[in-house]
Amino acid sequence: MNANEIPYKTYLSENEVPTAWYNLRADMPVKPAPLLNPGTGKPVTAEELGHVFCDALVAQELDNDTRFIPIPAEVCDFYRMFRPSPLIRAYFLERALGTPAHIYYKFEGNNTSGSHKLNSAAAQAYYAKEQGLKGVTTETGAGQWGTALSMACAFFHLDCKVFMVKCSYEQKPFRREVMRTYGADVTPSPSMTTEVGRKMNADHPGTTGSLGCAISEAVEAAVTREGYRYVLGSVLNQVLLHQSIIGLEKHAALAKLGVKPDVIIGCAGGGSNLGGLIAPFMGEKLRGENDYRIIAVEPASCPSFTRGRYAYDFCDTGRVCPLAKMYTLGHDFIPSANHAGGLRYHGMSPVLSELYDEGMMEARSVEQTSVFAAAQQFARTEGILPAPESSHAIRVAIDEALRCKEEGKAENIVFGLTGTGYFDLVAYKNFNDGSMMDYIPTDAELEANFAKMPKVG
Ligand SMILES: *Cc1c(COP(=O)(O)O)cnc(C)c1O
Repeated sequence: MNANEIPYKTYLSENEVPTAWYNLRADMPVKPAPLLNPGTGKPVTAEELGHVFCDALVAQELDNDTRFIPIPAEVCDFYRMFRPSPLIRAYFLERALGTPAHIYYKFEGNNTSGSHKLNSAAAQAYYAKEQGLKGVTTETGAGQWGTALSMACAFFHLDCKVFMVKCSYEQKPFRREVMRTYGADVTPSPSMTTEVGRKMNADHPGTTGSLGCAISEAVEAAVTREGYRYVLGSVLNQVLLHQSIIGLEKHAALAKLGVKPDVIIGCAGGGSNLGGLIAPFMGEKLRGENDYRIIAVEPASCPSFTRGRYAYDFCDTGRVCPLAKMYTLGHDFIPSANHAGGLRYHGMSPVLSELYDEGMMEARSVEQTSVFAAAQQFARTEGILPAPESSHAIRVAIDEALRCKEEGKAENIVFGLTGTGYFDLVAYKNFNDGSMMDYIPTDAELEANFAKMPKVG
């Protein structure tokens, strides 16, 4: 390690930390398609969105033009608890792979929620408090978003109601207790506390739930309660905006080191960490200042980019949310039960969907046994126990480093390590026992869901 001048870890100092989020949409020649009101088929207005979301967040959602949006001082203060996050040179992984490539990762798991989601939770809770609201409602699948939001609500003294997909609620009781410790109220979804939930339970007895259904329940719980709004941890433009803090820090750290990435890799569920990770780099690419290969990695069991349709679809099963134009598997798509961890949402960020459609980035799907093999190799070399979601990015970073080895190229590979895997030990157990299975949906299964998508435009 000594022969090289690049340190193992690079942190920004407090005065180098970004104080404004970067809005990538400002540099997109073609803006992401607007959300549509499913009733009228017209773009949703700020007023309509204001019934569901906080006012400041509605403004951010609809703002395609302001390049930099200042981070409120209170949010900067909260960020100080867990930011800046380190940029790590994966010397030990490189050595194990025998690759000439240089691998870097931006580690977002250094907070109790264990993922990057706290970056947006901090902002969303702050704006809800600033508006004088009593509380917020949300859904959580794997549990990271609910945990992050619980922490943020505790910090800003807000009530927090979380609808947790039932199979996760049962599989991850410890995740639930973390949320309750921070003061959140956690309900398994589908529940009997909302109309959508009662209908879902009646139509599909014994269902273990889905993210799309939990979203519908959380929205219903917000709009039927005085002083509450709904918040979402991914997909939306505002969430990508908040997550730009990851990319801005990474950009500043790499510039400090004098390193230009060749390949940037991130896992993609709803697209928020990837959108944040690549934001300033994609901005340079859109402005014609620099070029990078950007790769989104998704599970083969939930392949929205690689096998989905780019079309308007509902964001939730209960069809209470606006329509979004995105790469989607159809709002009724539910990944196979043996799919571990997150990255199970049927759609994808409209910002990333537009960029992918324009050929500005690549996408790859990977099977979960190969993802866990990568996770194991990473844990044994770099020491961190990665989240299964993050391990999708590790898989492709390793594959790219092995390609560099074959081609004898010393490329700079940078990936996002979004979180830790301490609550995913059932999945790790299945992998360690050799009982983990891969599941790839058939074309016929996907077609059945495409057929149920709304016909728009
Ligand atoms: C939620 C989550 C993801 C995926 O969500 P995106 O919005 O696509 O970033 C990835 N990794 C971790 C650890 C997560 O908690």
